[in-house]
Amino acid sequence: MKLRFFPLTLELRHAFTIATASRTTTPAMLVEIEHDGVVGYGEAAMPPYLGESQATAAAFLGRVDLSRVADPFQLEEILPAIDALAPGNTAAKAAVDIALHDWVGKKLGAPWYRIWGLDPAKTPVTSFTIGIDTPEMVRQKTREAAPYKIIKVKLGGANDREMIDAIRDVTDRPITVDANQGWRDPAEALRMIEWLASRGVVFIEQPMPRAQFADTAWLRERSPLPLIADESVQRLADVRRAVGVFDGINIKLMKSTGLREAHKMITLARALGLKVMLGCMTETSCAISAAAQLSPLVDWADLDGAVLIKNDAFAGATIVDGKIRLPDRPGIGAVKL
Ligand code: MG
Repeated sequence: MKLRFFPLTLELRHAFTIATASRTTTPAMLVEIEHDGVVGYGEAAMPPYLGESQATAAAFLGRVDLSRVADPFQLEEILPAIDALAPGNTAAKAAVDIALHDWVGKKLGAPWYRIWGLDPAKTPVTSFTIGIDTPEMVRQKTREAAPYKIIKVKLGGANDREMIDAIRDVTDRPITVDANQGWRDPAEALRMIEWLASRGVVFIEQPMPRAQFADTAWLRERSPLPLIADESVQRLADVRRAVGVFDGINIKLMKSTGLREAHKMITLARALGLKVMLGCMTETSCAISAAAQLSPLVDWADLDGAVLIKNDAFAGATIVDGKIRLPDRPGIGAVKL
């Protein structure tokens, strides 16, 4: 098997601001795995605040040697060996995982939703994300989000109530809130959540800093809205820690090291009674289409990453009337443009 990789800088349609950072581009790395006349595609998307870069991805991918892989279908053998090459590097590992799944699916002539036995009609609606912004811009972005059934808004800045009021000036559709660890005081967070519940908010993602498990558990006991872990839960081994602290988890391929572990995280979360959300970074339709293969299994999806960029390098899963539509193509369902 031959592995190739190419840097790509994703250009965002709007500057994107969350409680901890603001940016206009996202560095990414595209991966191709070729063997036996078939090419599998993968992608690492690396928002800078998570610590990976095109340089770290290139260094990691340079250490991945697939030349001696005898049976590319043995993903349960190959992927743990790649994971063991170095700690971290979760997006770079995801790129290899996605490309290998794409290759296997193409060889089998089946999309992954079918290999996993999922009903493509059961894909969820996806939210459209609005970053921290002025009320004027929030009203404009809410109008742009008209086709979406759920608005996801980033809070944890200085103007949380203004942002919600600006959305409510335009629409009464359900809102989900992502505080991105932005609320530090549990009593204040509770007052904010009680107010948000009165404004038609459905759930709160990562209200408090990732390591404040005791404060988050205190908040959850009193919160009128479900709390969903994002930054607090990255990989399979973290899922158990969410029990009693959060009501659900947000799984992203770039945190989980790809599809294989994400699928296991969904299974474990279900067994532990947790709700499941499937999220993304700003990504091309390559990684988004890969994640979409899992979407019939989850309660909520936030897979708008490819819509937020100007230079998508792939066509794949689409969003029709706010709902994810899986292409009838083998592998992850993405084709290079
Ligand atoms: Mg989040």
